[in-house]
Amino acid sequence: MNSKKTQLKGLTLHELEELFVDGGLEKYRAAQVFNWMYNHKVTSFHDMQNISKTLRAELDDKYTLLTLEKVREQISQENETRKLLFKTVDGHYIESVIIPDDGRLTLCVSTQVGCPLDCKFCATGVMGYKKNLTSGEIFDQYLLAQLSVTFPISNIVYMGMGEPLINYENTVRSLSIFSEELTTGISLKKITVSTSGIPHKIRELADTGLKCKLAFSLHSCFEDIRSSIMPINEKYSLKDNLKALQYFSQKTGTRITFEYVMLKGINDRKEDLEALKKLCKGISSKVNIIPFNSVAHTNPEGISAELQPTPLHAIHAFADRLRDANITVLLRDTRGNDIAAACGQLAITEQ
Ligand code: SAH
Ligand code: SF4
Repeated sequence: MNSKKTQLKGLTLHELEELFVDGGLEKYRAAQVFNWMYNHKVTSFHDMQNISKTLRAELDDKYTLLTLEKVREQISQENETRKLLFKTVDGHYIESVIIPDDGRLTLCVSTQVGCPLDCKFCATGVMGYKKNLTSGEIFDQYLLAQLSVTFPISNIVYMGMGEPLINYENTVRSLSIFSEELTTGISLKKITVSTSGIPHKIRELADTGLKCKLAFSLHSCFEDIRSSIMPINEKYSLKDNLKALQYFSQKTGTRITFEYVMLKGINDRKEDLEALKKLCKGISSKVNIIPFNSVAHTNPEGISAELQPTPLHAIHAFADRLRDANITVLLRDTRGNDIAAACGQLAITEQ
């Protein structure tokens, strides 16, 4: 590949129009190319049939659409969950997961190779940080995943490897592409960005006007406990995050999802339940209870090695007590455990 070629995949319609006009092309060509790459999912300019052969060759000379290559696909015996392994042009590996659930088909996308935040319960955290994905690499996970399945992907969650709000620019650019009227894929209402909590970025996202949903990885209502399992809490406290989440919820008119991985003896006690009930009353929200998925395959050390899942019966009881307090609770089951595709299990061994 000619490395001087400009990457088009990942550009918004506006950016594409600017690029084409600056390059001496007519503006409407941008909408045509936008449609071909994001809706028809073509990977070569030569397949863009309403564009003349000469122009296609010119585009091919200057630009590229190449971002990810699918290198492996594993299907879980349990429930048809699929884990896709992609390779970036610069030789990194990332994973996306397709989860069938109750008539929906949810795609979980990655935003970084690895993650710098080192949460103690997360396999991606253990592998460390390698790089931010480009907006093209984020969006291409959707395009390529859709080509792997017969039914349309109905929902997207930014819950794969990485922290989306650290890779803020590219996350927002990928959301903008979904939001574009010309994109026939998925509406922002069906897209959830999950964050471990970076208050100023949560506000910035609310201010973009992109009405996606936001999930916040809560995991404990107590600052000291949260800090012990999520070091980022020392920099951005729960208190500051809650203010930012309130802002997001009011500005976008959406409910915040609190993600809560059940850890035995750490966040499943009576006082945790009471604190969570109180916290939920203060903000338009629902709770997503997640059984802790083992990260033993990463050979963890320190506190990570000591973490135990809350037993299933205790998880159900915890969820029931929240429901008794009129809180909306989702209990996520562990999908794709046999292929290490469940939450927090994404860690690449290829590199
Ligand atoms: N970095 C973002 C998004 C990716 S993690 C975030 O932290 O929110 C997606 C979700 O998986 C988060 O809620 C995270 O807390 C959860 N998770 C991480 N490790 C897990 C594990 N071992 N078991 C269950 N859920 C886990
Ligand atoms: Fe990063 Fe999210 Fe894993 Fe924490 S839970 S290490 S923020 S990917």
